Amino acid sequence: MRVHHLDCGTMCPLAGFLMGGDTPIGRGLMVCHCILVETPRDGLVLVDTGFSTVECDDPRRLGRAFVTVTGPRLARGQTAREQIRSLGLDPSDVRHLIVTHMDLDHAGGIADFPAATVHLHQRELDAARARSTLQEKQRYLPRQWQHHQRWNPVSETGDTWLGLPAVQKLGGLDADIAIVPLHGHTRGHSGVVIRTERGWILHAGDAYFHHHELVDAPSAPVGLRLFQAVMQMDGPARHASQDALRRLHREHPEVLITSAHDPAELTRARYHAN
Ligand SMILES: [Zn+2]
Repeated sequence: MRVHHLDCGTMCPLAGFLMGGDTPIGRGLMVCHCILVETPRDGLVLVDTGFSTVECDDPRRLGRAFVTVTGPRLARGQTAREQIRSLGLDPSDVRHLIVTHMDLDHAGGIADFPAATVHLHQRELDAARARSTLQEKQRYLPRQWQHHQRWNPVSETGDTWLGLPAVQKLGGLDADIAIVPLHGHTRGHSGVVIRTERGWILHAGDAYFHHHELVDAPSAPVGLRLFQAVMQMDGPARHASQDALRRLHREHPEVLITSAHDPAELTRARYHAN
């Protein structure tokens, strides 16, 4: 199984110095870390999807406020579909998409893979469809995915993975890939675990934003801490998810844990894959 770590949506948010940037002025740097897995029997599997080619052609689809605050680069060559082509692979071989959650910077690329099945937590699909609060109306954009036909929402069945609740059997998928609920950032936010020849990888999505949050005396740039607190749908659940990740990191240092937007973690994951 070959694994590729892709950045499918570099963002340059305002107030970079609050987000961990090096300089007191200017914008910060965030990535949209997606994982492409070449499986022996299931074709290509993509974990998280970034932005789509449609949005690169028409950034207004993301909303003016989002574009102003986060400063996405929106280059067609950075979409998952075009990066898969650049790797010499065929985007139509992507049969499975697994999304950590349905926020607009994670679900946009679904539009570029109309034939793939989208696996996600049932609570997340329900929340994205219901958009029951003002914040959810802003973070979930149905125009990105409402025409998609193939969905496989899952819920906990009592399975576990290294002590965490997990959903291990994703319909139609043979590979060792499971969904691990890490709720809080959104109602059904989840991580995705992948077994590779080099060990387990856990894509933790937006359960945390900075690698310093995984250690026992966690810290993160103040802007990232504020952003997470503002964006959370369930504070106690989000803190419990981070506690579970810290415990996992302490007890199983061999697991490569990565979040979605930390450029340093993307660099480390690429090093790990090569
Ligand atoms: Zn995100």
